[in-house]
Amino acid sequence: MRPERIVILTGAGISAESGVPTFRGPDGLWEGHRVEEVATPQAFARDPVRVQRFYDARRARLAEVVPNPAHMALGRLDREWQGDLLIVTQNVDDLHERGGARRLLHMHGELKSAWCLACDSRHRWEGPLSGEPACPACGAAGRLRPDIVWFGEMPYAMEAIESALSASDLFVSIGTSGNVYPAAGFVELAAHAGARTLELNLEPSLGSSRFHESRLGPAGTLVPALVDELLG
Ligand SMILES: [Zn+2]
Repeated sequence: MRPERIVILTGAGISAESGVPTFRGPDGLWEGHRVEEVATPQAFARDPVRVQRFYDARRARLAEVVPNPAHMALGRLDREWQGDLLIVTQNVDDLHERGGARRLLHMHGELKSAWCLACDSRHRWEGPLSGEPACPACGAAGRLRPDIVWFGEMPYAMEAIESALSASDLFVSIGTSGNVYPAAGFVELAAHAGARTLELNLEPSLGSSRFHESRLGPAGTLVPALVDELLG
């Protein structure tokens, strides 16, 4: 049966193939930092300069990476798929946008967005946030933070995501570990709605058994093949 309403979840694995460092290295550190030193609201309150510099460096590094064939294939799917589609990403890079995806939600925020804590506005942001730049909307200096969902904060757009999952007939998870909630629960939500569930991953994930089908291999190979299948 040909699906009509697709939800796709992407995680670190798809960006790793473009050379974006994955969240945790083998040493349990994130590029030399402990997570609680750079990715919590408490860390930002304690040492905003360190946190801003950490995200400034990651934002700057986006200029050195390019979308891979998996991002490009999802961009093609977005352009050519006539039915409903929602691509939900856990990644904070802009590789899906640069690959052409438009029906896209960043559940963990975006490196290229700044959030003003003074007036609650959000702004596209390319440069550094350290140095206390002024908010383009209200002019307040030093009140912009990375628009990133930190540990202990609520992921974005959960209502829209859950509503799309509840109406989906195909759910595909690409390059995620499958063991971090709330995203780990998406497969159950989709299956409960009667969707076929498919996992594409480099290696079997902790959540593999919850999917109807698992395909193992690089996203750069598996995703273009899946998109060909869907558009075929
Ligand atoms: Zn403002």
